[in-house]
Amino acid sequence: MNGTTDNVFDVVIMGAGPVGQTVAGRVRAAELKVAVVEQELVGGDCAYWGCIPSKAILWPVVALADTCRVDGARDAVSGPLNAVRVFGRRDRYVANWDDDGRAHRVKEIGAELFRGHARLDGARRVTVATPDDQVVVLEARRAVVVCTGSRAAIPDIPGIGAAHAWTNREATESSAVPERLAVIGGGPQGVEMATAWHGLGASVTLLEPEGRLLHRMELFAGELVAEALGRAGVEVRTGVSVGELQRRQPSGVRRGRTGGDQPGQRTTTVGLGCDGARPVW
Ligand SMILES: Cc1cc2nc3c(=O)[nH]c(=O)nc-3n(C[C@H](O)[C@H](O)[C@H](O)COP(=O)(O)OP(=O)(O)OC[C@H]3O[C@@H](n4cnc5c(N)ncnc54)[C@H](O)[C@@H]3O)c2cc1C
Repeated sequence: MNGTTDNVFDVVIMGAGPVGQTVAGRVRAAELKVAVVEQELVGGDCAYWGCIPSKAILWPVVALADTCRVDGARDAVSGPLNAVRVFGRRDRYVANWDDDGRAHRVKEIGAELFRGHARLDGARRVTVATPDDQVVVLEARRAVVVCTGSRAAIPDIPGIGAAHAWTNREATESSAVPERLAVIGGGPQGVEMATAWHGLGASVTLLEPEGRLLHRMELFAGELVAEALGRAGVEVRTGVSVGELQRRQPSGVRRGRTGGDQPGQRTTTVGLGCDGARPVW
């Protein structure tokens, strides 16, 4: 491991997601010297496992549904979505998870990009553990900006580890359509993913612990979405407490309230048809 303190900047930014990139742009606009450190892909979750791939798989589903609602246009629809081509479209939108273009744009604005894991190591001091096992020390004259984003929070449901549940990563990067899918959580992302994967051919059950979908939004929004999902064929269950997850043979996930099949408790088997296809939340 080598150490160097040659790298002195006005601002050091940890994380090159949308926030880190925006900060870098603002700092450069003020003609300050800036370093950006990224441990994975420049662009962050939004570009590769969030906004962009989710909309890329959602949009064909929405476009088809819209077309089928329009008299005259509906007659031009001759078959289901082509999932392989939808995934191909998604792959183009995420540049096949290659960040060369985005990294180039960071450098183009005059920021210096460092690859590796950044760690706060004192006042205005960041150490970067690089992929080739070096340690680079970055000093900031003015500020270190922490833009490290977030990770999926895995709910504490018994059996969730063994069930190999999807997070937003698998839900946006999978190129296999599961036969059945349990989506746990009816917030914006759960609703989007339920819509997308149902449209791509999965039989989807959407489970929401609160009494309604999109419970942080206006009442009518959740009601409209629940109605539309139900009409499309998604099984929507609200007020459901998921007590346990079990993967069943040959492949499937069993869920139920704590205590199993007692009166007032239900257990549902959610079979999954593709290898590696698991429930999402
Ligand atoms: C399925 C899904 C759909 C979404 N759709 C939308 C949408 O339509 N519209 C919208 O506005 N938002 C959407 N979001 C939310 C959006 O993706 C996030 O709000 C956004 O990515 C947050 O940006 P960020 O820069 O804070 O974090 P991130 O995008 O998470 O970026 C943080 C970066 O920091 C890096 N990093 C972390 N720790 C370190 C470290 N120690 N050293 C170096 N680098 C580090 C990470 O590798 C990552 O690249 C969606 C999210 C999901 C999951």
